[in-house]
Amino acid sequence: MKKILLVFYLFCISLISSAQSPWREGEMQVKVFAEQPEQQQLIKQLNINADFAGDFLRCYLTPQEYESLLASGIRCEVEIPDLNHWSASFGPLGVPTGYYTVAQLNEIADSLATHFPDICTLHTIGIASNFDVIYALKISDNSSVDENEPEILFDGGIHGDEIGASENMIRFARDLCLGYENDPYITDLVNNREIWIIYCLNPYGRSAMTRYNLAGVDINRDCGYMWNGEGNSTSAFSQPETKALRGMLTDNQFVIHCSYHSGIEFISFPWSYRASQTPDHAQHQYLASLYASTSGYANIPYQQGYSGMYPINGSTKDFGYGAVGAISWSVEISVSKQPPASQIVPIYLKNKPAMLAMCEYAGYGISGMVTDETTGEPVSANIFVNDFYPISTDPEVGDFHKFLVPGNYELKVIANGYEPHTLTNVVVSSQSSTFITIELQPATGQYARALVSSYIPNNNPNDEGFTPAALGPPDGVQYSIGRFGWAVFDMGTPVINGEGPDVIVHENDATPEGYTLFAGVTIDGPWRPMGTGIGTSSFDLSVTFLSEARFFKITDDGDGQSQANNAGFDLDAIEGIVRIPPVDSTGYISGFIYEYHNPTQVVEGATVYSGEYSTISDSDGFFLIRADTGNVQICAEHWSRWLYDCDSVYVNPGDTLNHNMFLYYVENVRKTDYPAISIYPNPVKGLAKISIQGKAVIEKIIALDNSGAVHNVPFYPDGSGSAIADFSGHSAGFYILEISLKDGEIMHVKIVIQ
Ligand SMILES: [Zn+2]
Repeated sequence: MKKILLVFYLFCISLISSAQSPWREGEMQVKVFAEQPEQQQLIKQLNINADFAGDFLRCYLTPQEYESLLASGIRCEVEIPDLNHWSASFGPLGVPTGYYTVAQLNEIADSLATHFPDICTLHTIGIASNFDVIYALKISDNSSVDENEPEILFDGGIHGDEIGASENMIRFARDLCLGYENDPYITDLVNNREIWIIYCLNPYGRSAMTRYNLAGVDINRDCGYMWNGEGNSTSAFSQPETKALRGMLTDNQFVIHCSYHSGIEFISFPWSYRASQTPDHAQHQYLASLYASTSGYANIPYQQGYSGMYPINGSTKDFGYGAVGAISWSVEISVSKQPPASQIVPIYLKNKPAMLAMCEYAGYGISGMVTDETTGEPVSANIFVNDFYPISTDPEVGDFHKFLVPGNYELKVIANGYEPHTLTNVVVSSQSSTFITIELQPATGQYARALVSSYIPNNNPNDEGFTPAALGPPDGVQYSIGRFGWAVFDMGTPVINGEGPDVIVHENDATPEGYTLFAGVTIDGPWRPMGTGIGTSSFDLSVTFLSEARFFKITDDGDGQSQANNAGFDLDAIEGIVRIPPVDSTGYISGFIYEYHNPTQVVEGATVYSGEYSTISDSDGFFLIRADTGNVQICAEHWSRWLYDCDSVYVNPGDTLNHNMFLYYVENVRKTDYPAISIYPNPVKGLAKISIQGKAVIEKIIALDNSGAVHNVPFYPDGSGSAIADFSGHSAGFYILEISLKDGEIMHVKIVIQ
């Protein structure tokens, strides 16, 4: 049955694959000579898929797009007239002879993890659009452990037709493994860095020789930082390949992220979506210059992507810097997208020394450890250095690392549940790392911890677009989300639905603006509306029917100007109302019940009582019973076998206390027809009425406690077979009453005295 299902499943996949052309229908590769900024702007407005390639744009055009470009008078030169036909010419393996196939790349990666298990582990980071697994190699000493070490990410193959990138990645991984304990420089880097390599992010694209994934989406336009629907992307992080990369970037704390492409020789760093420089321009400039000078390229240019190449939204580099604060860029390794196979190794050898240099320099600047002052536990914190985009600590280790050019810096550490902490005059010297230990004092508060994604229609160059302003507590600095814009934030931990409002959205400026707030349990929604607000407003999770939500999306109502400073809602902070989790006033007691005189014998079917709770032991003699907290009494009895016991135990809130019980056999108690006796009330405090149906007058009552000791019980016959017994002289506990009647019969009944 399973086999049939598998065959059917594979059949379905093959249908999907064969039904889908790797490129759009009739798509062609065209050199477009758009020298004038207004010509480039037109291409942007037509939402055409394009890459900068030196003196021209390399565009991917459907026949209609091609016609509209020609009609606008822009000079065009067709390079590949039919990309679907062209990609089919590479045969089923998808790549020219001399290049590795996806399967071969996976085999090499697997063999590295197998032969170098101490320093190389293979991780599944996602399932691609064609159901291929997307892998990442982690190369570091103690590779399976997260250590206090700077992390670096290299990825390749995001554009499947730029086939040199994956060759670069897998060779670098192999050289790191083979060089360990042979080459002192590599050994030192593997010992003191955590190097991650995604060698083929878009396996479908590489197998089908296409830029896109199976859904026809350009992954390098699908990322969420200032996403704008380019490259056939339908929403931010719409594709599994993009989600896999997002997971890598948010689950780790990369100092440097290098993404490999081909089609020109160029290093392009953020921003790609806007003309203005990032606050970390000096760091990007310094490291890109270092990459260029340590590489084997004679003169590889490096520049901000927007101006040096071509404006794009939704790139990996803008997300890598804008959302997680990594020094993030694209490296274009060859003027050809498919250089002849003889060029694979020479191109790799040009990049290898620069890649090693990036690993080395990821350890310079500042590093440190953020812990809780009282517990010493690591803290998940954001580190703001000057006005740069923040980086994060590793929540499991508490370490952080950031490359900085030499200078004096100010650090601000912000973490949910802690007082903010500021350090001034942190001195960073060349080619060294300044180590800082930070202990945070606990405080109350929960605020947005990270930006997930953002959208400002057509961008807004007149506003600074400083998304980190929305992180942390209200501070009078805002991120204006743009007219009709939206932004999604991660609170770090879920906001819990409680009585009254659960979330407060803080607007910064004096003119309140309108917006809608949505709540999501996952990073990708679905987004449940919590209502609209104007200015600072409170929201209640109850309206969403969610008990908790970790992610919040804010959309602007569309009022006002779009291309103005502070356009759209001015978000200062998102605050979650911190709920003190209700103190559980109960715990549990569990254990086994044995016979006291025969402790290897478990007692099945014993009734266990504690306060208002009761249960029955199972065939293993096991019981689990809820119990109030504090010093409580737990009793167990098996009536028909005359076994019982009571103990006192101390239960803490939420405890599951282990407590075995040993039941005594009460030798001087005999079984009798006890339902004829009724005692009211039972449990008793003071007086109880004992009635015996159709029986003679009570002569004597004794109580047997759990040690077998005998206590006399005073009583007052009422002349009708009933008696009022007085238990006020007895300590609380479980007793067996032995009632002797005038006619000589002896009856037994259990009673609980409070
Ligand atoms: Zn590319």
